[in-house]
Amino acid sequence: MVAAVEAVAEQVVAQLREDCATPAARLDGVAAAMEEELRAGLREDGGSKIEMIVSYVDDLPNGYCATSAARLAAMEEEMRAGLREEGGSKIKMIVSYVDNLPNGSEEGLFYALDLGGTNFRVLRVQLAGKEKRVVKLESTEVSIPHHLMSGNAEELFGFIASALAKFIADEGPNKVLGGKQRELGFTFSFPVRQTSIASGTLIKWTKEFAVDDAVGEDVVAELQKAMEKQGVDMRVSALINDTVGTLAAGSYNDEDVVIGVILGTGSNAAYVEKADAIPKLKGELPKSGNMVINTEWGNFFSSRLPTTEYDQALDEESVNPREQIFEKLISGLYLGDIVRRVLLKIATQCSIFGDVDQTKLRSPFVLRTPDVSAMHHDETPDLSIVAEKLAENLKIADTTFEARKMVVEICDIVTSRSARLAAAGIVGIIRKMGRGTAGDKRRTVIAIDGGLFEHYVEFRQCLESTLVELLGEEASQSVSVKLTKDGSGLGAALIAAAHSQYAN
Ligand code: ADP
Ligand code: MG
Repeated sequence: MVAAVEAVAEQVVAQLREDCATPAARLDGVAAAMEEELRAGLREDGGSKIEMIVSYVDDLPNGYCATSAARLAAMEEEMRAGLREEGGSKIKMIVSYVDNLPNGSEEGLFYALDLGGTNFRVLRVQLAGKEKRVVKLESTEVSIPHHLMSGNAEELFGFIASALAKFIADEGPNKVLGGKQRELGFTFSFPVRQTSIASGTLIKWTKEFAVDDAVGEDVVAELQKAMEKQGVDMRVSALINDTVGTLAAGSYNDEDVVIGVILGTGSNAAYVEKADAIPKLKGELPKSGNMVINTEWGNFFSSRLPTTEYDQALDEESVNPREQIFEKLISGLYLGDIVRRVLLKIATQCSIFGDVDQTKLRSPFVLRTPDVSAMHHDETPDLSIVAEKLAENLKIADTTFEARKMVVEICDIVTSRSARLAAAGIVGIIRKMGRGTAGDKRRTVIAIDGGLFEHYVEFRQCLESTLVELLGEEASQSVSVKLTKDGSGLGAALIAAAHSQYAN
């Protein structure tokens, strides 16, 4: 009886392991597909991209979880054809209008707002030029009430502006000297079609946000309107994405930082592209010869991605089905829920967890990625943290040691796939930049921000070792990753400073 129960559970885990497998050859394929997407994304304005994805899935109703080799080949060919016809790419490759990253000479007091997904932060940064750099950084963090994530624009931006009003009310009237207007960098980490350094329209929401009346609107205008209502006299000098902020903050401290990556609630990346390699960049080329591109890689999709029945169900039940597939395989918002779905399947098919009330197990997002991380890192001899997390979050009590070990293995499979895919995405960008080959003496530094990378040690280590595996020992010596904590907020203040109305 017990043996049979274990065999059933083992079978589920074995299938999961097989579906999540990311051997180096496969990751090389993912990196190559990513590189190809980056090129396609630079060519066209990407406007038709969502259409492309939808029609693709309709053509092959069984979707992207099919696994047979023949089918994968057919799907891939189909996708290439789709890309050719539309001329675009599934990832948007947004021109950021940031052509000069902050160089250190910036001075003065600047503010930043960082709206990323889970929390939003307000920052005040005192910059003191080349030698002294950031002399003071103060911030507060506010979590976004859940109902505002799917309410209307006025409420959401009103909430943000009121937090900002509170923040500056505490500092008294004379903080910014000389009668100057306060200036703010706005980090808004959702896909935006940028129209200038300080304006851009929201393309769509991601990460379980659904404030429908904001789509298509200029988010800076919305914020500015809300600030006026609250009596906040402040100018939004820059609108940026968190990846661009992370890249800016990273390169402020180390000029070899050329890629910024977010691994938090969501996932995305930005990098420095040569302006003359961006066909869709119209008008005069920037003097620096460079332009930061926000890839919006969260929407990357390739038939080479290893996916499972759990990913498919998660996607179908999400607020944005068939979108952000790469993000759903990688980022912190989703990892916990993938693990929950695997555990639910096991609980349904056998009694390894005993007699469980499945109400909790069936509730989306009750198991969070920090819980997965805590279970994965459990070093107690009897895996008591695993036991506690299962009981607390999923009402799975009285687990056997064998069952807990299995749960740790599931966390490991799901998280390794995530970290390895993130590494493959980074390698795709490095290759697109023509870097990271053996003999390339330039340093290539990747600034990474986000709670998943910062706190989940196994994830971070796996990402780093996969980079070495994919690039090779020699080439990887010139490539390094750097945690750039709060880079997304600091970067916004730095870019606001670089684009200050008072700058000469
Ligand atoms: P945001 O992406 O909203 O800007 P963060 O960068 O702070 O916010 O990332 C928050 C996300 O990081 C959480 O949603 C969670 O998925 C992940 N995270 C936070 N703490 C941990 C942890 N201890 N272990 C694993 N993941 C974590
Ligand atoms: Mg963030």
